[in-house]
Amino acid sequence: MKYPRLIIDLAKIKNNVDQVVRITKEESGCETLALVTKGHCADPEIVKLLASHPGVDFLADSRIENIKKYFDILPCDENGKLACGKKTMMLRIPMQSELDEIVKYIDLCQISEIETIKLLNESAKKLSKIQDILLMIDMGDLREGLLFRNREKIHEVVSEILTLENIKLRGIGVNMNCYGAIIPKEDNLGEFVDIAREIESRHGIELDIISGGNSGTMYLSDSGRLPKGITNVRIGESHLMGTESSYLGQVSGTVPGAFTLEAEIVEIQLKPSLPIGESGYDAFGHVPYYEDKGEMMRAIIAVGKQDIEIDSMTPVDEKIEIMGGSSDHIILDITNSERDYKVGDIVSFTLGYSGMLRATTSCYVEKSYK
Ligand SMILES: *Cc1c(COP(=O)(O)O)cnc(C)c1O
Repeated sequence: MKYPRLIIDLAKIKNNVDQVVRITKEESGCETLALVTKGHCADPEIVKLLASHPGVDFLADSRIENIKKYFDILPCDENGKLACGKKTMMLRIPMQSELDEIVKYIDLCQISEIETIKLLNESAKKLSKIQDILLMIDMGDLREGLLFRNREKIHEVVSEILTLENIKLRGIGVNMNCYGAIIPKEDNLGEFVDIAREIESRHGIELDIISGGNSGTMYLSDSGRLPKGITNVRIGESHLMGTESSYLGQVSGTVPGAFTLEAEIVEIQLKPSLPIGESGYDAFGHVPYYEDKGEMMRAIIAVGKQDIEIDSMTPVDEKIEIMGGSSDHIILDITNSERDYKVGDIVSFTLGYSGMLRATTSCYVEKSYK
């Protein structure tokens, strides 16, 4: 066995996908559901699981590299589309330098800049495709999208989009809970749906995909309060971690703990809790603070900040405390543990979202499945 090792519990993820499908589609009236794979760099086994689930409509990611992986992982039909019938969705508004690839691999592209949309139209024309897009509207979180208050600007952009022959405006999208940490509620999401209706009546078009947000919306869906008119949501965290990201609650029926990291102990020594000598900067340029807790049994595990986010890992042995770490080492206080740890033993941690992200991005972490 090689360590550090990430263990992915596919049965837990399957359970969580079932619950997210039930809540968003069966109970909250969403017509389509996008599940997001960027949290684990489009892990092949998770991608296969989502591709085989009848409740999933879009496989979505923020990076084209991850979406390209789908086409290696999954069987394709004679037109080069995913044979499972799932559509691909690009979450990050595209770079002008990647538009040919967008046209080639992406069924539905979230986008906000009219200049980029015009260039996308050129790429689509060149490759003889009609490219579906969602125009992003910013409801106050202040990341991507046209600001909701500037209605005339939104209508101008829509008018310009409608002149582009190889672009089809399928709807609008909103993202919250990110930069501004703004919580989606019945009022701001309700206004977002109003904007969709206003675009339809002003321009005489129909928008079928009104994409209402990410795992921050799950608390609304879970309590039957997702505003009517939202027809799609894009969910990462809730089907992986089981949590919703507005109030950090557990989504009903989901289970936590699908991602576990195992690491090997390389040193155990009884040492003081306070470093000895003049203090300067730590390995990451910060001035650390340590509390004097007397002598402690300290274990070093062979995994570090290059592979994991210390704030997003919880020891399965509750008596272990994480003291800190550097790029390649993490130091644990094992003084109070009931287990008699030896050098060479394996310690396990349950990972949160950013722990999963870092562990799946590190090429030093082995993966296994159960
Ligand atoms: C990451 C992302 C999502 C999914 O976010 P979760 O909180 O993991 O559900 C949805 N939409 C956009 C635009 C994203 O960037």
